[in-house]
Amino acid sequence: MARNERDAATAAPDAFSGGNKRDTPPFEVTAKVALADNQLRRNLGKATQAIRDKREAAAGEMPDWEELREAGSAIKTRVMRHLDEYLVQLEDSVRRAGGTVHWARDAEEANGIVAGIARENIGEEGTREVVKVKSIATDEIKLNEHLEKEGIHAAETDLAELIIQLAGEGSSHILVPAIHKNRAEIRELFMRELGLGDLSDEPEVLAEAARIYLRRKFLSAKVGVSGANFAVAETGTVCVVESEGNGRMCTTLPDTLVTVMGIEKIIPEWRDFEVFMQTLPRSSTAERMNPYTSFWTGVSEDDGPREFHLVLLDNGRTEVLADEIGRQSLNCIRCSACLNSCPVYDRVGGHAYNSVYPGPIGAILTPQLAGIGSSPGADSLPYASSLCGACYEVCPVKINIPEVLIHLRGKVVRNKQDNGGAKAKLDPENVAMQTLAKTFSDPRLYEASQRAALVGQWPLARSGAIHSLPGRLAGWTSARDLAPVPEQSFRRWWREERGGAER
Ligand code: SF4
Repeated sequence: MARNERDAATAAPDAFSGGNKRDTPPFEVTAKVALADNQLRRNLGKATQAIRDKREAAAGEMPDWEELREAGSAIKTRVMRHLDEYLVQLEDSVRRAGGTVHWARDAEEANGIVAGIARENIGEEGTREVVKVKSIATDEIKLNEHLEKEGIHAAETDLAELIIQLAGEGSSHILVPAIHKNRAEIRELFMRELGLGDLSDEPEVLAEAARIYLRRKFLSAKVGVSGANFAVAETGTVCVVESEGNGRMCTTLPDTLVTVMGIEKIIPEWRDFEVFMQTLPRSSTAERMNPYTSFWTGVSEDDGPREFHLVLLDNGRTEVLADEIGRQSLNCIRCSACLNSCPVYDRVGGHAYNSVYPGPIGAILTPQLAGIGSSPGADSLPYASSLCGACYEVCPVKINIPEVLIHLRGKVVRNKQDNGGAKAKLDPENVAMQTLAKTFSDPRLYEASQRAALVGQWPLARSGAIHSLPGRLAGWTSARDLAPVPEQSFRRWWREERGGAER
């Protein structure tokens, strides 16, 4: 694949604010670019297969895995039902512990709040830089780009985030943002961007190079920016779950810590960790216990940052909450198990989704956060699935992703019908679907069309199958046969067997 094509495909995602949303291309276009990249597919296939196998083993050794999934789902469902109360409780708890809470309606407000805190605490002297630990919420609002405009560099400190920042690319996986890169590519990148001499591509050597580079950043930064995996309404405690320890450096060494958190990340009580600390590590990295789990509650006198700011980000979440079927998307704990199990993600990788939330969860979350009808890209995502249901089977909080996908497809179609004018109404697919809906909802019309199809199919049916359909229907049979309408329909059989009793 040409380098500029690959660059375009891996650029920072645009489905949210900050980019030209209307121009976000549909999934079928971006997926084609990804599918043409053999190296990407090899890298991805190897990585997802390994994580998938390990996750299955880790979950399989828990005798109460299904009960834990049920419990996780119940906790998050309760949070969504009473989110207004839990948010106020969290605000009170954080304030009592010495922290400051900020409410951000959208990306612009959140970016403005963080930039203001950074400006105030960095000062005009020295390096104008903040250190940042992996936070998808800040990628969603394009915080780095906003800070850059203010003359402040946001240095990513999670190893994978550092890699894609150095490469000038967007994340392609929730948990392993650089999953599309192999060791040789990372070695070249480090040598080029960090100005290092000859390196081997051994993981230890690459990790050591990053460690030395990052240590200097941690020791000089005055402001740290983090995301949050959970925040406990009862105590005001914020939790970050990570694997490298860089997050802990980022949240403890700078004098000021700003956490940007989507409002859905709340859990009611401290004891709820009992569930999520078992399901999250096993579902994400297939570990029994997470390596670095940091908790902090406000500020303390002799330890950690002097100032703590919690930015509660809405950015479309209350709209998602208002949709009774779609709202389960907010239960997500970002484990990435659905990505690793998805046959579509496995082939195309994360960049094809053009969102910071790739894979099955991205296919339901992005269109809802960005808004149905906001761009061809967002509207195409609910179709980026074969509806096989693998994502639902592995999800530790039992989000019924296929159900939400179908629900969103309906919303996309209705939105086009309502707002697309006469052209949308006369679209052949729309006309066909309306006709089918009418036919399937009227038993007499249904049987009449069955009889008509039985007669009309004779030039097409050969050896018990229809191998090719004409015109616009040809796509249906390009990769599979169609079963012909049988001589005896089920309804006729039923009537004959039951003597006319029809239900
Ligand atoms: S939807 Fe479920 S499986 Fe996918 S990332 Fe979220 S919690 Fe994990």
